[in-house]
Amino acid sequence: SRFYTLTDYPQGLPERELFKLETEDLPELGPGEVRIRNHWLSVDPYMRGRMNGVRTYVEPFTLGKPMEGGAIGEVIASNDERLKEGDIVNHMGGWRDIAQIPAEGVHPLPDIQVPEQAYLGVLGMPGMTAWTGLNLIAECRTGDNVLVSAASGAVGSLVVQLAKAKGCHVVGIAGATHKLAWLESLGVEPVSYRDRNAHELSDAIRLACPEGIDVYFENVGGICLEAALSQLNEGARIAVCGMIGSYNAKEPTPGPSNLFELVARKVRMQGFIVADHWSHYPDFLKEVAPQVAEGKLDYKETVKEGLESTPDAFLELFEGGNTGKMLVKLNQ
Ligand code: NDP
Repeated sequence: SRFYTLTDYPQGLPERELFKLETEDLPELGPGEVRIRNHWLSVDPYMRGRMNGVRTYVEPFTLGKPMEGGAIGEVIASNDERLKEGDIVNHMGGWRDIAQIPAEGVHPLPDIQVPEQAYLGVLGMPGMTAWTGLNLIAECRTGDNVLVSAASGAVGSLVVQLAKAKGCHVVGIAGATHKLAWLESLGVEPVSYRDRNAHELSDAIRLACPEGIDVYFENVGGICLEAALSQLNEGARIAVCGMIGSYNAKEPTPGPSNLFELVARKVRMQGFIVADHWSHYPDFLKEVAPQVAEGKLDYKETVKEGLESTPDAFLELFEGGNTGKMLVKLNQ
C-alpha cells in the first residue's frame, strides 16, 4: 500500500514537503476488516484544520501515520459479511491507494445511476452540507434573496442551484472568470471578489441584488462576510458553513468592522457541522439524487491524476484551483 503521512504541523499554507509518500506491505486481513482498492480520493478544506495538531470538532492527523479522507473504491478482500469483493464503497481511508480498515465505516453506494465519484461531491459530504446549511440552518424559503461565497465550489455550486430551484434570487461570489460564467449559466448573478475591497464587493452585491440579502451562505469569511453584512435585510439568516479565507492564516485575521449589523438588523447567524445532521442524509438523497441522475442539477469536477498529485490537489483548494469538487483519480 502507498499512502501519505504528514511529517510536521504546518504554519500558514502547508509546504509540499510536509506530505510524505510512504510504502508498506499490508498485514493479513484482520477480523472485521476489509481491503479496498481506491478509485477516487477526496481533498477537502476541512483537512487543513486537521493539520494544526489540536482537536477542534475532529481529531488532528497523527504525524507519521497514514492520513485520512473520503474515498471511493472497490472491495478486494473482506472479513465482513455485509461486504463482498467487487462492492463499490464510500469510506474514510483516503490519501492512499489500497486501504485496509474496519468494516464499520465502509458503506456500499446507494443504487442510483450516477458516476461513483459523485458520492464524494454533489451526492456526498459537500452536497449534504449544501442542503443542510440552506434548508435546516438558514431555513431558506421561496423568494428569498440568497448570497453564497465560494459559489462555484463543491458546496457552493449545489447551494446556488438548490436555492434557484426554490425560486430564490441568487448571487454567487467567486474568483476566476470561467467560474463566474458557469454561475451565470446556472441563472446566478455572478460577483467577483478579485481586486475588490469589502466596500467595493458590497457595492457589487447591491447592484446584483438591490432588494438586499435574506440568506447568506458563508464559505469564505473576511471581506466576503464584511461585504455581506452591509447588504442584509432585517431578520436575515447566515449559515456559517466555513471560512476558508482564514484556514492558512498565521496570525488572527482582522474581523469585519461592521459585525454590529447583526444586532441592528436582527440577524441570526448560525454555525453548523454537517456530521451532526447526518440522520437527514436519506432525505437529502431522496430530493437531490434523482435530479443529479436526470441531469437537472449540474455539477463539475476538477480531477488530478494519480496518488502523487494528492498534496497538490489539496493545496490548490486554497488558490481556487478547482471548479466544483476537487478529486484525485487513481490509476487502476
Ligand atoms: P470548494 O470546492 O469551495 O473549494 C474551495 C474554494 O474556495 C476555492 O475553489 C476558491 O474558489 C475558494 N477560496 C479559497 N481560498 C479563498 C480565499 N482566500 N478567499 C475567497 N475564496 C477562497 O470547497 P468545499 O465546497 O469543499 O468547501 C467550501 C466551504 O465549506 C469551506 O469553507 C469548507 O470548510 C466548508 N465546509 C463546511 C462543512 C461543515 O460541516 N460546516 C462541511 C464541508 C465543507 P474561488 O476561485 O472562487 O476563490
